[in-house]
Order: sequence, then C-alpha cells, then structure tokens
Amino acid sequence: MAKRKKRKINVFRLFILGLICVLLIFLLGFGIKKILFSSKETPIIKEEKYDEIVQAGFTIEEAKELASLSNYWPSRLERYAAYTKADTLEQRVMEVNCDMDLEPYAQTTIVEDDTDVTYLVNKFYALPDGYVPDDLVGLDVFACVQGQDYSCQDVDVIQLRKEVYDAYIKWCKAAEKENIEIRAIAGYRSYEYQKGLWDYNAQIHGQEYADSYYARPGQSEHNTGLAVDITFNGYNFNEIENYDGYEWILENAHKYGFILRYPEDKVDVTRYGYESWHFRYVGKDVATKIYENNWTLEEYYGAKEEA
Ligand SMILES: [Zn+2]
Repeated sequence: MAKRKKRKINVFRLFILGLICVLLIFLLGFGIKKILFSSKETPIIKEEKYDEIVQAGFTIEEAKELASLSNYWPSRLERYAAYTKADTLEQRVMEVNCDMDLEPYAQTTIVEDDTDVTYLVNKFYALPDGYVPDDLVGLDVFACVQGQDYSCQDVDVIQLRKEVYDAYIKWCKAAEKENIEIRAIAGYRSYEYQKGLWDYNAQIHGQEYADSYYARPGQSEHNTGLAVDITFNGYNFNEIENYDGYEWILENAHKYGFILRYPEDKVDVTRYGYESWHFRYVGKDVATKIYENNWTLEEYYGAKEEA
C-alpha cells in the first residue's frame, strides 16, 4: 500500500512539474513574441524578406548580405540567383542590374520620358518608334566640313539637343585654349535613318551581322540628340586616342557634362566595342560622378536603388 501511495505521489509530482514546464514554455514564447512585436524594427518582416531570398536559392548569410546592399533590386531576385558568373555578391548585383546576365536585345524597355538627359539607351532600353527630340539645334561651329573631314556625317547640318549644344560649345572653347580643335563628325541621327541602316544590313548579311555592327532603330544613342562623335586637329576620328590632346579631352569632358560612352575596358558592360570618339551628354553632376567612379552609364544606374 505504502509503495503504491508513493508512486501516486510521484505521478502527481511529475504531472505538476510537467504543467509548470508547459506554462513556462508558453510564457517564454509569449514573452519573445511580445518583444518581437513591440519592437519598432519589425524583425518579423525582415525575416520574411530573407525567407524570400533564401527560397530563391541563397544561404541565410548571403540573403542578409544581399538585402543590405543599397542597389539590391527585389524584382531581379530570380536573375541574381540564376547568374553565377561574378566573384562576389556585390559584383553579381551590379552586373545583373546592368543586364549583363542577358543576351543583347533579349528584352526591351521603352523610354518614354526624355526630360531627364541621363536616361539610358542601349541594347535593353529603347526610344519609342519614330522618336524625334523636340529641341534640336543646328551646330554652326565646331562641326566638320563635308568633303574636308574624314567621315563627316552626311547631313546639311549636324544637330544636337539645345542643352547639349550649349555644353559642347563650352567644351570646345576650353579645348581651343589648349590648342585642341574639336570638331563634331556626327550628332543626331533619325529613327528612320537607323532603321534603314539596320534593315539593309540585316537583309544583305543577316540579323546577327546587323546587330554586331549597327544599333537597332530606337536603340542608337545618336537618335537621342544627346550623343556626339568627335575628332580633333584633323585626325581620323577612329584614331584620335593615339594623339596628344586626347588625354585632355578625356580628363575634362565631365566638366562640361560629357562621358566617354564606350570605353575600352567596359566592353562587357556596354556591349559595344571601344569607341574613342563617341561622347554622351548626361549633365555635369552625373558625368562627374561617372568619371570619379570609373563607371559607365549602365553602372551609374546599376549602383542606384531600384527605380
Ligand atoms: Zn557615335
């Protein structure tokens, strides 16, 4: 009998102990929940953000690193996961933001607003069909002369958008003081012109050939009126990088709002071969930022927060 009673007491004790444990666990859980929910940092939402990244195939550490990058674009998560060429996550994000994970012309975003002169036109961003800037101005000075300068654009007068025209004149005047006579050999080119050029070459040599040598209509920077091809002191435009004076042009372009658009060491980013003569106007501030960071226009956007 005594033994039985003892066992009964033990069972009762165990039961009470269990009850206390359950109660403790419940209180503890409740307490943690309360701390989490009452904190203003809302870590619950943050954890969910990591969840999504982890589900895309990243480790929790990688997820935290990705989420901490200011230029992490949530809409490109799947593309970050699929692209494995870069050495670091930071590089991977930048390269995917620059569309380096895509084949040229794999997708096209139409640029509708031309009021911000920094907008991107490349093998992924295009102008609307038949786009014509409404503030083109004829270049009356610092322009090549037909029949006299090699590769002078075959038009009555080279045109640029007004803001670009003003900046270009200032740049040329400053160059003149250094005995560098800059001449524009090409400026605005129409949508129809580019279409004719591309269509003709695609018809004769095939689409692949046309794509490797000519921008598709609406995807040439010359269609924007923001780009200018230059030469100086009478040199052939495609050899200017070999002459004294070119260094000055490169080092000072940003002060007037221009950037070398297709640098030799950025072919994999711009998806264009080196063009020592092609300069793009983006305004002084953005040009300086691009110059100081040794970026392309693609990287300038790639370093920003998601638009
Ligand atoms: Zn050009």
